[in-house]
Amino acid sequence: MLIAEAVQVLDRLFPKGMQQDYDACGFQCGRTSKDLQGIMVGLDVNEGMIQEAEQRGCNLLVTHHPLLFHPLRNLGEGTRVERLVHLLLEKGMSAYAAHTNLDAMPNGVNGVLADNWGLLNRQPLEALKVSLMQLVVYVPLAHAETLRSALFASGAGALGNYGEASFGVQGTGTFKPLEGANPYLGSLNLREVVEEIRLEVVLEPWKTQQVLEAMRRAHPYEEVPYQLISLEQSAPAYGLGMVGDLPRPMQVYELLNLIAKTLGCPLRHSHIVAHTIIMQSTISRIALCGGAGADLWSKAKAAGAQVYLTSEIKHHHFLDAGDELLLVEAGHAETEIPVIERVQAIIQPFFSTFAILQTSIQQNPAQYFSLRNENHGS
Ligand SMILES: [Zn+2]
Repeated sequence: MLIAEAVQVLDRLFPKGMQQDYDACGFQCGRTSKDLQGIMVGLDVNEGMIQEAEQRGCNLLVTHHPLLFHPLRNLGEGTRVERLVHLLLEKGMSAYAAHTNLDAMPNGVNGVLADNWGLLNRQPLEALKVSLMQLVVYVPLAHAETLRSALFASGAGALGNYGEASFGVQGTGTFKPLEGANPYLGSLNLREVVEEIRLEVVLEPWKTQQVLEAMRRAHPYEEVPYQLISLEQSAPAYGLGMVGDLPRPMQVYELLNLIAKTLGCPLRHSHIVAHTIIMQSTISRIALCGGAGADLWSKAKAAGAQVYLTSEIKHHHFLDAGDELLLVEAGHAETEIPVIERVQAIIQPFFSTFAILQTSIQQNPAQYFSLRNENHGS
């Protein structure tokens, strides 16, 4: 498999149609005409990861944060990014990023956090601004079920917590094969009348190519009669942040302890004395956003969350969030490192003959200072 082919597979698993406008998801750099040797996943490309990938036989690095994020005007050795690009290329490696598209996937950054605490009734805090598509395709009665199954298998028919959604109505189709046609049924220059199903499915726009390919493979006609329509309806399962219900109500401190233990870090949270309402009640609904998600706090509040877990919370966020929403800050890397294992799990089945490894290099550039560590001998 070439790197270029691996990139195609990754683009399907992490569609760029889900990324934010400012982002740079997808292929980053490298020679796509080289053979793939192995894939290493991590949070950021760094020198240690490149060296480890070389030692362990991987030449494609898949990270959450894009190495190339801000545009480069020249490529010298002046910055960390420039030096890393040189090193990657010198080692014959390629880099690929799944960033805000991984944030927006229900089983991405926030899905992993939500899985940790078994959140129920999950919804994104801010739905992606994309319109669903509707595919309408006409198929002979005898082939309707085969086509329907093929469309579902390619990802069509997903609507929130429902899959395999479709609608079909029977009618009569006609066609006349003309010179040069090679019809599946009928004769040249004679009008054919066929009992057909008008089959309708919804799909997210980034699945369009794969769904149309599946449709063409499963449809018996030489010229497939279909329409693709853009809907007003948005894709409900995709978006930034996540809100959900805890499997059982918890006291504030129990929940904070659980979060700190899961993420392996201390937490900073709103001044709890001001939160008399929260302190007196149990927590049943929480919102979260891995990475820098503090600006979504008002969406968390509007969604009925009592606690909002994210990172990079500023002073004014703590002030503005008020008494009804407890802001809880864990580190940026701490809230995103859990997704690395998920990325590995998403990729692995599609590269069964290649090693998909997680980097063992420290992925968190920031550490907490602990007084106890300085207190030698006691
Ligand atoms: Zn991040």
